[in-house]
Amino acid sequence: MVGVLAIQGDFQAHLRVLERLGVSAQEVRNPIDLNGVTHLIIPGGESTTIRKVAQANGLWSMLKGFKGPVMGTCMGSILMARKILSPDSDGWGMIDMTIRRNAYGRQISSFTALGKLSFSDKAFEMIFIRAPKITSFNEKLESVAWLNDEVTGVRSGNKLALTFHPELSGNNALHKYFLELS
Ligand code: GLN
Repeated sequence: MVGVLAIQGDFQAHLRVLERLGVSAQEVRNPIDLNGVTHLIIPGGESTTIRKVAQANGLWSMLKGFKGPVMGTCMGSILMARKILSPDSDGWGMIDMTIRRNAYGRQISSFTALGKLSFSDKAFEMIFIRAPKITSFNEKLESVAWLNDEVTGVRSGNKLALTFHPELSGNNALHKYFLELS
């Protein structure tokens, strides 16, 4: 069963993709909701809100310690990082990278562009909404997505962090890729 963090943010869009793929999903708001969850999706949203709510109800440490595959999109990628900038804080350390919040500036804080994926020849429509930027990452990690020569997605074992919103693109390729991780 796939769990989708559903405290706040665009979790509904992920649930719709999973429904299209015929995969059963569970909304995760409290620690008990993780029962039976094998794969976890952390959607886009507001990382400061999630931090507050999840720390208060005990979910934070369980998400941080989740052993199965995790896909974080936009805000999700921020939480998965080892180090968060702007303002500085610690993420879950699932991916040995540093990420800067709201890194594209006000004027182009939201935009769509065609990027590339490591496992596909087809261009992928990448939607960035007040998106973060990966400023550095462990060179041993695998890059899976690029916008021009900038890395917008990295994988560390069964953990996948994407700075954009694949759930809004109408293209299921990254969700399928994630569901195959174990
Ligand atoms: N700006 C948000 C944050 O820093 C992330 C934006 C998003 O997930 N669309 O938490």
